[in-house]
Amino acid sequence: MKRSISILLLVAMVLSLFGCAVPDQDILQSTPKNERTTSTTTTPTTTTQTTTTPTTSAPTTPTQTAQTVPVDSSFEVHFIDVGQADAALVLCDGRAMLIDGGNAEDSSLLYSYLKKHGIAHLDYVIGTHAHEDHIGGIAGALNYATAGVVLCPVTSYDSKAFQNFAKTVNSQGVSITVPSAGETFQLGSASCRILAANTSSDANNTSIVLRIVYGKTSFLFTGDAERETEQAILNSGQTLQSTVLKVGHHGSDTSTSYVWLREIMPEYAVISVGAKNSYGHPTEEVLSRLRDADVKTFRTDMQGDIVCVSDGERVTFTVGRNAEADTFGGIGGNSTQRTQATTKRTEPATVPPGVSYILNTNSKKFHYPYCGSAARISAKNRRDYTGTREELISWGYSPCGNCDP
Ligand SMILES: [Zn+2]
Ligand SMILES: [Zn+2]
Repeated sequence: MKRSISILLLVAMVLSLFGCAVPDQDILQSTPKNERTTSTTTTPTTTTQTTTTPTTSAPTTPTQTAQTVPVDSSFEVHFIDVGQADAALVLCDGRAMLIDGGNAEDSSLLYSYLKKHGIAHLDYVIGTHAHEDHIGGIAGALNYATAGVVLCPVTSYDSKAFQNFAKTVNSQGVSITVPSAGETFQLGSASCRILAANTSSDANNTSIVLRIVYGKTSFLFTGDAERETEQAILNSGQTLQSTVLKVGHHGSDTSTSYVWLREIMPEYAVISVGAKNSYGHPTEEVLSRLRDADVKTFRTDMQGDIVCVSDGERVTFTVGRNAEADTFGGIGGNSTQRTQATTKRTEPATVPPGVSYILNTNSKKFHYPYCGSAARISAKNRRDYTGTREELISWGYSPCGNCDP
């Protein structure tokens, strides 16, 4: 009897030693400058009210289990319409996280979006991978807001867009952190977990894949991760089930494999994609996989900015336009809805893609394209410039005191 008790004790000791040795790290600590950033919701023209039955996270992984959220808590995700690119702003309990920032030409849009919503500090900034359509416009965001932690799968990449991104991050005294799979952090009462980062040498497949759990609802952000990364994550056995899926790689057929979708079992999907893009995104294949899985799908090309609010039990979507759009249709870029969709995006319209600075050839000042002073330069003295700041200075130009380019 005594012997069996001591064996039981031994077993219990061994279990307690090894049972909690799961390598979840909470190392990504943000040091927010502003205690609270205000978040005001947009007043979109059309609203779609869709509710979801609460989904419970599978209890297989030690972290990210569903919890009840505090009474005064709030959570929203803004999928910002940046055309053929990705940008999402996640707001929770006064904390803010930007996941991608669109193309360089979206810098002004990002700047204005944060300004409009009073987001002066981004606790986390995630560049899912080094491609311009993900990190290009982050510079614009960081010209308005300060950054806490900046995550990217690489710290250098041979492109002007990336160099500009890295330079803007560094100018805030912050360096890019390369995260690892399994790392977790909190955004207010939302818990975030990196499912993958830098798993391949192919840029799309380096994408940081992030799952956020808020109460009983969950969100999966996949960057441009393709089948290879999807499979690696599936093999890792991490919990994937999510209420909302940001569809990988703008709806390319190289992503959102059937097995991946089956494991996530999303109720909603969001495709961030440009109207009439030359890649044919989103593809018929991905749309039909989503349709077959009965996933309610939203698209930025048809519906503009898409805002998803969670109360911890259910999610509600609000779209900028075309709430009733047939998001499974309109493939190939010739539907009437797509034609309609191309009429928006007026904000940075005066600045052509790729322009780095606006010059005043008379005062010899240079400005960021979104700068108010740049807008007032007369056509005679105004020049759009693509190139480096150093070159402008060598020509005798000096930076504008307002936008401080
Ligand atoms: Zn992309
Ligand atoms: Zn990419």
